[in-house]
Amino acid sequence: CGVFGCIGVTDAANFVALGLHALQHRGQEAGGIVSYAPDHGFNSARRFGYVRDNFTKQSLMETLPGALAIGHVRYSTAGSKGAAIRDVQPFFGEFSMGGAAIAHNGNITNAEALRRELIERGSIFQSSSDSECIIHLMARSLQRDIPSRMEDALRRVEGAFSVVAMTRTKLIGVRDALGVRPLVLGKLGDGWCLSSETCALDIIGAEFVREIEPGEMVVITEQGVESTKPFRAKRSRFCIFEHVYFSRPDSIIGGQSVYETRRQIGVELAREAAVDADLVCPVPDSGTPAAIGYAHESGIPYGMGIIRNQYMGRTFIEPTEQIRNMGVRLKLNVNRALIRGKRVVLVDDSVVRGTTSRKIKEMILDAGAAEVHFRIASPPTAWPCFYGVDTPQREKLLAATMSEEEMRDHLGVDSLKFISLDGLYRAAGEDGGRNNAHPQYCDACFSGEYPVEPADMIEKGFKL
Ligand code: 5GP
Ligand code: SF4
Ligand code: MG
Repeated sequence: CGVFGCIGVTDAANFVALGLHALQHRGQEAGGIVSYAPDHGFNSARRFGYVRDNFTKQSLMETLPGALAIGHVRYSTAGSKGAAIRDVQPFFGEFSMGGAAIAHNGNITNAEALRRELIERGSIFQSSSDSECIIHLMARSLQRDIPSRMEDALRRVEGAFSVVAMTRTKLIGVRDALGVRPLVLGKLGDGWCLSSETCALDIIGAEFVREIEPGEMVVITEQGVESTKPFRAKRSRFCIFEHVYFSRPDSIIGGQSVYETRRQIGVELAREAAVDADLVCPVPDSGTPAAIGYAHESGIPYGMGIIRNQYMGRTFIEPTEQIRNMGVRLKLNVNRALIRGKRVVLVDDSVVRGTTSRKIKEMILDAGAAEVHFRIASPPTAWPCFYGVDTPQREKLLAATMSEEEMRDHLGVDSLKFISLDGLYRAAGEDGGRNNAHPQYCDACFSGEYPVEPADMIEKGFKL
């Protein structure tokens, strides 16, 4: 998901809508905005579909007045498919000291246990979302101000969270102690904003100030930014998959360009897995920067052998398998004139179920390619993510049940190579590779080493 908030600017909801539009790649199912104005109180709008189709209408935006607003773009993760509008964030709660709205990116790994406990004690849940627990935990807190109630609530929550919240006068941002999901602070004129990624600051002309640190809470008022570290300090475990795929390539993470990291992954891949070939082709768009790096390092010409229809979204975000299967063809087509007779290296970011790769291989061979070699910009995805990225159950992951050779045969390609974990870490700026005693990132979907125990899933029988 993507989160964005603004304080101290006229018609904050308009800026939030633009910010969410720039974060649309993080969630395409639905979006929501809450705003506050002293004469109008809190107002909210939640809609299915793209930001540009909803939050551009003047008639809707006029219902969201005020200098303070937050918003959320949603994509459903495991266990919450087929969202109802009541699952669309931000969530809102009334407390004795006033209202508050919250937008959450990440996934709470003990949400089911918390929900059971809260329901037993009288909470009335409105949605099926894990994020709603935070509001109910805040309602039960005895603290006298909302930021302290949020602190209380988030101390009980396990897993990954980057939260943007608001009261009548404050914009609040929090990251979990491991800093799994991103959150950045920006300055916009006299006002401030919080955003999942820097690309959403660029769109509104806000200046990037800094990242919110793992375990940090910032409370922003018209007077300025107050920072505390309410959560136990831990070594940061940022999601390495944000570098590989999830973030936009024009965002900056940890002082590094996402595009440059991806290009460097391609360079590492070319060193680790060279092959004699005539053409390097990205699987667009997610494989493009790595393909550019691979072509550069290997000296093999780069070409757009697959053309993407710009009007389709990210295939994997479509929630059902049926739509996902059709999606590949709806979205990608082969540039036959370029491919014919060539030995082609195809570069993609990841192999999850293998559906995309299989279809693409068929399309490339149909177009008359002489050989097809897959090069993947991440290690084999053998474990599900429980921290806010949608991966299917373990059984559906190709790499969970097959060796690399078996995957190659299953996909029917001449060769298949994945970047090593160390290579990926080097590309992400860790020159010494992965520190196996204390990994610098979360890489659970590749390594099976989960930095936070997925309590709900273990209860349901998931085996580490
Ligand atoms: P597959 O077809 O192998 O299931 O999915 C791989 C494609 O889905 C890749 O091209 C990649 O761009 C995209 N994808 C990236 N991340 C994810 C993810 O976390 N989950 C899923 N299901 N697909 C992803
Ligand atoms: Fe990111 Fe993978 Fe960790 Fe999920 S499991 S947070 S996708 S690195
Ligand atoms: Mg892709």
